[in-house]
Amino acid sequence: MKFISTRGDAPALSFEEVVLAGLASDGGLYVPETLPTFSQAEIASWVGSSYQELAFNVIHPFIDGEIADDDLKGIIAKAYVTFRHDAIAPLVQTGHNEWVLELFQGPTLAFKDFALQFLGHLLDFILAKRNQKVVVMGATSGDTGSAAIEGCRRCENIDIFILHPYQRVSDVQRRQMTTVTADNVFNIALRGNFDDCQNMVKASFRDQSFLPDGRQLVAVNSINWARIMAQIVYYFYASLALGGPHREVSFSVPTGNFGDIFAAYLAKKMGLPIEQLVIATNSNDILHRCIANNDHSKQNLHQSLSPSMDIMVSSNFERLLFDLYDRKGAEIQRLMREFESGHMSLSDAALTDARALFSSFKLDDDDTLDLVAQMYARNGYLVDPHTAIGVAAARSERHSQETPMVCLATAHPAKFPEAVIKAAKKHTNAQLKQPSLPSHMHDLFSRTEEYRVLDDNIDEVHAYISASLVRD
Ligand SMILES: *Cc1c(COP(=O)(O)O)cnc(C)c1O
Repeated sequence: MKFISTRGDAPALSFEEVVLAGLASDGGLYVPETLPTFSQAEIASWVGSSYQELAFNVIHPFIDGEIADDDLKGIIAKAYVTFRHDAIAPLVQTGHNEWVLELFQGPTLAFKDFALQFLGHLLDFILAKRNQKVVVMGATSGDTGSAAIEGCRRCENIDIFILHPYQRVSDVQRRQMTTVTADNVFNIALRGNFDDCQNMVKASFRDQSFLPDGRQLVAVNSINWARIMAQIVYYFYASLALGGPHREVSFSVPTGNFGDIFAAYLAKKMGLPIEQLVIATNSNDILHRCIANNDHSKQNLHQSLSPSMDIMVSSNFERLLFDLYDRKGAEIQRLMREFESGHMSLSDAALTDARALFSSFKLDDDDTLDLVAQMYARNGYLVDPHTAIGVAAARSERHSQETPMVCLATAHPAKFPEAVIKAAKKHTNAQLKQPSLPSHMHDLFSRTEEYRVLDDNIDEVHAYISASLVRD
């Protein structure tokens, strides 16, 4: 299978090449040239499969023989062995025909483990085959960094450097990264904010001459196709658990970068009977404004109680636009040039199609606290603030009570205790309790931390990286 750029001017790549590539050379994002599809009979034959078996079935056609079946099975087995629940992605009922899909059973308590546990083992396999070593470099404001580190810590062919803004991530999030003491894991606390971290990473990708011979940087943010691909699987898993493919299911997805909800859209295009897809945003609502008012414009960043969705621009939206504009790369180039001014408008046809595919919703912090408290009082179920936004969106935008509505729980509530504490103060009668960390993390606050504080100076960061790599 070939992968092509959304902007039409970069060379097509094979599966293995696309996993290593990151952004396309024309600035676009890679997507499959043709999407594999499954018949209803084929999907029906998967009823009762384990998560891992299903992952193999869904991922297999994208790989198209580049990796042998048994090797792919091995990669999948390793990826999900670290999850704490045998179902991998368990469903919990929280209302009439309303379900929460718990995607936080992985090592770092957020859904990003689904993609990054898989990606780490996939990369390591590809690199061993090519006798190559790479450097993973990424910036994080929290969840991505710890999930990437957990995904790569046991990989022999990867050194990973994660930059976080010094003293600006939560204690839980920092400790999840800095207490991993594998000798291929390097945490950099940069004196700056998240944007400074991200700019440093972008500049490093542009000019990689600071790396020793033969090494290249690899991106593990959601522009990496393999991450999106791994996320398609849990939509199939939830649907099959709730009677699919013989009946439709709907999904509500708390989203920032449009990665997770884009995977849902792909599942539908691949043949999974999905009735409704709800885009749930916090007050950083560019996606909601775009769907509701054709207002795709950059606004100032709001610091919300759901920080993993605090974005100004949703990078994966370009992958949807590519389809909405009939896969014409030149059209996407024109749109993205228009957007450099901070604003772009979708054509009538594209907007109509987008509205047929998605409903959208925005929830501010105050309403998020209400939902957390109300859900605990009515269902005895504690949700994290990201998940709360998805549940609120589902309840507000739902078309049909007969179709099961699945709300994605993207993080464990103990990962974002601040929201729960605030909700408890605001709603004293809800009797909210402080969530505790799962047992594998009970000693997180007594583990030794290891990280390097560096100035926002690219030469200093590059010198640190190349010096750290010399060891072998
Ligand atoms: C990353 C993240 C999101 C947003 O995911 P996207 O793929 O960017 O849409 C939502 N919730 C949590 C907890 C996250 O870590």
